[in-house]
Amino acid sequence: MDVNKIIDKLSRKLSQRSLIFIIVFLSLAIIGIIGAYLAKKENPNPSGSLSTSLETVQEKPPLVVIDPGHGGWDPGAMAGDINEKDIVLDISIEIERLLIEKNIDYYMIRTEDIYVSLEDRAQIANEKKGRLFISIHNNSFTDSAQSGILTAYNPYSPNGKDMAKIMQSKIKELGMKNRDIMPRPNLYVLRHTEMPALLLEIGFMSNKKDLKLLTAGDFQKKCAKQVVSGIEDILDKYILDSKATDAEGSPAAD
Ligand SMILES: [Zn+2]
Repeated sequence: MDVNKIIDKLSRKLSQRSLIFIIVFLSLAIIGIIGAYLAKKENPNPSGSLSTSLETVQEKPPLVVIDPGHGGWDPGAMAGDINEKDIVLDISIEIERLLIEKNIDYYMIRTEDIYVSLEDRAQIANEKKGRLFISIHNNSFTDSAQSGILTAYNPYSPNGKDMAKIMQSKIKELGMKNRDIMPRPNLYVLRHTEMPALLLEIGFMSNKKDLKLLTAGDFQKKCAKQVVSGIEDILDKYILDSKATDAEGSPAAD
């Protein structure tokens, strides 16, 4: 066979192959373009689903800050060798257990016997962007006849009084005297927290009957249950629904 013939045959074969390659490539490109066009027609705003999922991620569940009073060198009220700091921590740890069970986001100001200043308590709650602050205390008085349970609130906090009413309606069921709700605008943690805040005075350590209840494990559990029930109702009514409330409460354009 002549060398020229071989080259001629080879080049013809090659060009045939390139032609097939070009055709296949162009068909794939056309199919791709048509596919992309159809996909766009079906979903004209492909970023729509993305922004929705981002919004869902940004909508964080409200954080409840639990503040067991006193701690460390500050025992709070005392009755013999029984300290308020220990009782309120026991109750708060029961509250924590229930919050975990109910999948409610929370932050504990303390979970052990340490001192945390009032300034730090409020600052931590603000930094954590808490949506509800619940401080747990016990009362005490020189007159041992005084007894009962109450919810203190900041009268300048929006809905503060109504939230206190909800909480008190739950904890008054614990078998202690109902001392109702009490405006306490000057209590540090109520005044300096940037979220709705309540301070519960659970019984008088200076009263024998109250003290007996306070040191009983089943009372502490029942108490935590009522407090968490109050938290749930407040979250439902005022916090989870806050967008709607804000919109209603916003001033008119003029
Ligand atoms: Zn206290």
